[in-house]
Amino acid sequence: MKIPFSEISSTGARYTLNNLTVPCDKRDFELQGPIELSCSLQRKGKDRVVLQGMVQAILLLRCSRCLAGFPFQVHANMQLIYELVDAEHCHLKEVDLSAGELDVIELLEPVLDLEDVARQQLYMALPVRQICSEQCLGICPECGNNLNDSTCDCKRDKKNSPFDVLAALKNKEK
Ligand SMILES: [Zn+2]
Ligand SMILES: [Zn+2]
Repeated sequence: MKIPFSEISSTGARYTLNNLTVPCDKRDFELQGPIELSCSLQRKGKDRVVLQGMVQAILLLRCSRCLAGFPFQVHANMQLIYELVDAEHCHLKEVDLSAGELDVIELLEPVLDLEDVARQQLYMALPVRQICSEQCLGICPECGNNLNDSTCDCKRDKKNSPFDVLAALKNKEK
């Protein structure tokens, strides 16, 4: 949903989208149902729009240890300022810190795309470590078995295992 700055008033307006989907790269995440976005938009002068609201969605992420998919709930509050800049000065412009805590996002056209807003928020909400649980055992490097589901008979290097010590001794003898 694209909203031109000209439609945004200085008194503000609310937008609620319950059935939003955005294109996403399956290597990053998949959507488990629609995204919910609700926000208010308020025009500040000619080239600024203040956005306040929230995005929520359930994503399917892939565990980096066992490679299984697991659900991840996003509930992100947003307080953003969108500012129109002209392309030539975009990179030269100093960031205006007077806005305090608010993030200032520069736009080249006076149009706010709520799909883009939602997509950016989802990416920002992704956890740094994507694991299905702290206790995840990962997959067996020998046979590829998911060790959370079942064990296998492969010999694996386990730290502090007495078998390691024996194996090391045997190697020394060779
Ligand atoms: Zn896992
Ligand atoms: Zn195995």
